[in-house]
Amino acid sequence: MNDNTNRFIGYAINDLLNHNVSITLRSKKYLRDITDGWFSSDKKLKFVCNLGDCKDLRISIFLHEYSHFIQWKTKSHYWIGEEYNNAYQEYFEFKGIENQLKYQHLIQEVEQDCDKIAVNLIKKHMLDIDIDQYIRESNWYIWMYNIVSELNKWPNMRYINMQEMCNICPKKFIEKSRYNRLPAKFLHQIDKTLLIKSKN
Ligand SMILES: [Zn+2]
Repeated sequence: MNDNTNRFIGYAINDLLNHNVSITLRSKKYLRDITDGWFSSDKKLKFVCNLGDCKDLRISIFLHEYSHFIQWKTKSHYWIGEEYNNAYQEYFEFKGIENQLKYQHLIQEVEQDCDKIAVNLIKKHMLDIDIDQYIRESNWYIWMYNIVSELNKWPNMRYINMQEMCNICPKKFIEKSRYNRLPAKFLHQIDKTLLIKSKN
């Protein structure tokens, strides 16, 4: 981690505290498959992040969750509370809801907007994060929601080779019109690494 990144973490934590956000930074033992962090503005403001040992990945997660906070702080229309909170809640209950695709699209939009904020922060604070790689991962998540909806669960990340998957994702943010159009290569890779194994 470079000095800029260390300074940024201090700056971000101060910003969160100044807005009365409760902060939980977890150690590696809490690492889970599904989520390594979240920011919630539902009832109480809450920022949770697993910083762990794998510095680069963890810093990306910290940055991503902080960018959700920025969406809240700047009253972004992508973070307008009710509708998005509902979308996350309903979508991740995986009850085969009627509006699954609508919620999927809302989540894809809010997540991509968050990552665009994150990339601006990487540039502004000259953070030690590879922007191309960050955007590839962001695109990977956007496309993954299609698979999540199909499987009706978040797949076990153990079966996914993130690097291989990211290599086939573009290094520019995908357009909204492409959110639900998965390239053959992507589907092929998912087929191999995930769909088969996650059924076992
Ligand atoms: Zn997010």
